[in-house]
Amino acid sequence: MTAQITLQDGTLFFTIGLLALCLLAYLYTAFRERTLVWKISSHTLFSCKKCGLVISVRPLQTQPRQCPRCTGRPVPYRIVSASNPNR
Ligand SMILES: [Zn+2]
Repeated sequence: MTAQITLQDGTLFFTIGLLALCLLAYLYTAFRERTLVWKISSHTLFSCKKCGLVISVRPLQTQPRQCPRCTGRPVPYRIVSASNPNR
């Protein structure tokens, strides 16, 4: 009789343990997804009109005045690629 009660208790604990494990795994996954969420880069790209050098500009930084390689005028990258698709 005692063994049967122990078996029932064991099954109950086993089931509760499995559920707790599932809950822990879910919480771990949810936490990881929140920390590893995709974020669109806020860097801006500029391209030199003369030599085509692409310059990355961090947020809160002003537009570069001139190209560090040839002192040409950098323009936003999208405009350059849209007006010159063969490049
Ligand atoms: Zn340049």
